Amino acid sequence: MAMLPETEELEIAPTLQKALELASARHKHLCPRQVLGARAAIAGAKALNLDVPRADKRLLVIVETDGCFVDGVEAVAGVSVGRRTLRVEDYGKMAATFVDVKTEQALRVAPQLDVREKSHRYAPEQARRYFAMLHGYQRMPDEELLTIQPVRLAQPVAAIVSRAAARAKCGMCGEEIINEREVETNGRALCRACAGGGYLVVHP
Ligand SMILES: [Zn+2]
Ligand SMILES: [Zn+2]
Repeated sequence: MAMLPETEELEIAPTLQKALELASARHKHLCPRQVLGARAAIAGAKALNLDVPRADKRLLVIVETDGCFVDGVEAVAGVSVGRRTLRVEDYGKMAATFVDVKTEQALRVAPQLDVREKSHRYAPEQARRYFAMLHGYQRMPDEELLTIQPVRLAQPVAAIVSRAAARAKCGMCGEEIINEREVETNGRALCRACAGGGYLVVHP
């Protein structure tokens, strides 16, 4: 378990420390990606002026990968797929967009391109690259670690989240589709699998 040195004076340190304990307990290890996820979430929520972890659904987070990074994000922000406050758009990228559902303000937070190299400067006592990242990512100031970029969502939040009551029936397989995820195809409402281009082939 990586601990911050006593002398560490980063403002985010107590939140980060708590989040990393939580994330690593779930995960059975602490790794640099969890640290990045936690740091991104702390910075994203702060930039949106939202307290975390949240018990309500005001913060929506869209992560661009699955895995350890997301554990860090969840531990800080209190968001989850089950509560529908966390969505995975798997681009295989260590980045997340933080959305204030109330104002629709959206900020994409990603590590800077050279964080791996920079981490050595913040953890000079660590000879191994992995541990330099693990410790360096905990110590680097946001300005060195992250880019925070205002973005506009391609779909309004209302369409992303949809309504609890929304229900349709697929014109092909007959299964129920919730959250308005049906696709209009030749005048028929189809589920994404039947419409084609889904993650599986139902009609091989
Ligand atoms: Zn990991
Ligand atoms: Zn279908």
